[in-house]
Amino acid sequence: MRVRISKLINKNINIRYYNNSNNINGGSKITLNAVTMVPGTSINVNTEINKNPLETNFSTPNVLKSFGSRRRLSSQMSRENDEHVNEILNNNKRWVEETKLKDPEFFERLGKLKQKPKYLYFGCSDSRVPVNQILGLGPGEVFVHRNIANMVPANDLNVLSVLEYAVAHLGVQDIIVAGHYDCGGVRAATKRQDLGLLENWLRLIRDVYRLHKDHLDHIDNLEERHHRLVELNVIEQCLNLYKTGVVQRKRLQSSTASGGTEVLPRIHAMVFNPGEGILKKLNVDFDQRVGSLEHIYGLHDQEDI
Ligand SMILES: [Zn+2]
Repeated sequence: MRVRISKLINKNINIRYYNNSNNINGGSKITLNAVTMVPGTSINVNTEINKNPLETNFSTPNVLKSFGSRRRLSSQMSRENDEHVNEILNNNKRWVEETKLKDPEFFERLGKLKQKPKYLYFGCSDSRVPVNQILGLGPGEVFVHRNIANMVPANDLNVLSVLEYAVAHLGVQDIIVAGHYDCGGVRAATKRQDLGLLENWLRLIRDVYRLHKDHLDHIDNLEERHHRLVELNVIEQCLNLYKTGVVQRKRLQSSTASGGTEVLPRIHAMVFNPGEGILKKLNVDFDQRVGSLEHIYGLHDQEDI
């Protein structure tokens, strides 16, 4: 009997029995706990194959030998992946063909294009928010970062790296923070529940609620309150952008260079409504808001530039 490792999930290894190299005998799966697989010891596995009770004594070194075959494990996994991504691979081929039909030089131009997007977009990872479609932008036109509930935390290296690169190196002119109604992340942050690790992220939204508690608690309709929290969260994330050194530096530089006529990057608070497809801009006077916080978050004086 041959043992093939089909999948490694956390500390468990799922294996399938094969009577020979081609036929899966019953397709039964057994889960072994990897922490018990000490070399030189044996593992007793109780299972049922083709309805015949079987107790098999696996020699751990043999199991580990199969497990250690990177080629066998990876080839099995790639077969599994292909089955699940064929749809999108076919979609991609169709997209390439259709795009070439409409514009035969499109990919030649895209391949040579030096990335210089005007927009940086921070949005939620929610799959109902197709960024390029709702913005009406094509490849090369928007630099994108997405996470749960479109957050811009001060200590998230990923967010900060995207921001630094887009502002300081790509020179984006407009930054959009876009939330969306019916946001699962924002909803979860208003519930009395413990989602484990995720709570550390959702707490940032709970903090937004705390900042605006008096306002939010006076909204009796829960859906309206959710909408308002989505909006307030977007506004707070925009303010988080204003707090960063890279944004402040760039805005001061561009203001000085243009004599105050053009301050870049501009920052926009927006909300997408999946039920309508509409992306709306929130009416926020950031000049006033940032101005009132200047003595707290301001990092530079004119003479620094
Ligand atoms: Zn969301």
